[in-house]
Amino acid sequence: MSDNVEKYIERKTFRGTSDSISKKFADAGLEKIRACINCGTCTGSCPSGRRTAFRTRVAIRKALRGDESVLEDIDIWMCSTCYYCYERCPRDIPVTDMIIKLRNIAVEEGFILDNHLTLADDIFYKTCHGVPANQPDQKKWRDLRESYGLPALPPTVHSYPEAVKECHKLMELTGFRKLLNHAHEVKEKRASENKDSEGGK
Ligand code: SF4
Ligand code: SF4
Repeated sequence: MSDNVEKYIERKTFRGTSDSISKKFADAGLEKIRACINCGTCTGSCPSGRRTAFRTRVAIRKALRGDESVLEDIDIWMCSTCYYCYERCPRDIPVTDMIIKLRNIAVEEGFILDNHLTLADDIFYKTCHGVPANQPDQKKWRDLRESYGLPALPPTVHSYPEAVKECHKLMELTGFRKLLNHAHEVKEKRASENKDSEGGK
């Protein structure tokens, strides 16, 4: 990245729809998107955009403007993290990383898809697996593994349940549990506010 671009990144600030969101964008290290020239190469490269309404350039543009609505958009969850845009951006913006940072902020703000929250709960609260195979109704996966000559359960917490404690400890240390609890709280609060506002109509 050239010196001029570096200066541009340092000089500009996010003109956010709220100061706290602007600060979050800055604190999360999103400053590199200030070098965006809105060329659309990222969108043109994006395989997810070919199949969905997701437009990488638009998400980056919104983030650049500090537009909070980027966090609510389902779009940022459409990125498959293939890194095409990252490799092709003429401004050397690590676009994929920026999208991941936006997702992290979105979760902190309680914008997380229900399926993702369920999956995260499964991994961090229940089985420590995204696709658990030790439940009674998942016999078909165990049978499938055995049909390939594998042990019915993989050598993970399924085979070593005592490691679940370590998994949970890791969650505490990384702050993941706190983040998930917060995401649940904000989501519930939002749902209740929406219900109240619908009731008042
Ligand atoms: Fe901006 Fe890079 Fe996307 Fe072009 S490719 S719109 S410079 S993020
Ligand atoms: Fe699209 Fe995400 Fe791949 Fe970038 S990393 S091209 S946004 S799917």
